[in-house]
Amino acid sequence: LFLGPCEFVKGVVAMEGLPPADRLEFCMAGRSNVGKSSLINALTGRKALARTSNTPGRTQEINFFALADTHYMVDLPGYGFAKAPVAVVAKWQALLKNYLAGRQTLRRVFLLIDSRHGAKEVDEEIMSVLDRAAVPFHTVMTKIDKPRPADLEASLERTRQIIAKHPTAYPEIILTSSDKGDGVETLRAIIAGLN
Ligand code: GDP
Repeated sequence: LFLGPCEFVKGVVAMEGLPPADRLEFCMAGRSNVGKSSLINALTGRKALARTSNTPGRTQEINFFALADTHYMVDLPGYGFAKAPVAVVAKWQALLKNYLAGRQTLRRVFLLIDSRHGAKEVDEEIMSVLDRAAVPFHTVMTKIDKPRPADLEASLERTRQIIAKHPTAYPEIILTSSDKGDGVETLRAIIAGLN
């Protein structure tokens, strides 16, 4: 499945900057360093479309990409970076909550979780925001080529127990590796099926 051309549209720092809600939208979210840029690049087949930036205190932008003129793919800033100043974190959380709760065209969130670590408290906070906003989300394990099978199974089990508490979560966890290509077609099929 081919998603078609993917173009950067804009980076948004405040609600006023959001592009018109005129097409289907889905979001990629996750902690800093979870492998979000790599997965976005694997999905869209483009190198360096999404840049990694773990610089604390850097302006946290919500990046909009147009996919095939029919969808926006929205790259949310990586969260959980311990060294970001409190004021920056608070501003970003407010923007995130307002965006998630108020965006009519937002159909799905892909919440990325590092398969070596499983869901953390900060991931659970995002899940609660999604529950309140009633935005359905998929849990996506990243870097599954990295952990040993027993460790992967353990972090999967922990994560299953956590998502079971969240009514807007899809129960199946999607296993991905940007390096090996696992799960990429599954994600594309979900995206293609959004309506
Ligand atoms: P981001 O901060 O969430 O955008 O994370 P990046 O995509 O920049 O990835 C963070 C680090 O994890 C980089 O060193 C990547 O090379 C590595 N990484 C990302 N995806 C994978 C994967 O599927 N397998 C492995 N082994 N490493 C990965």
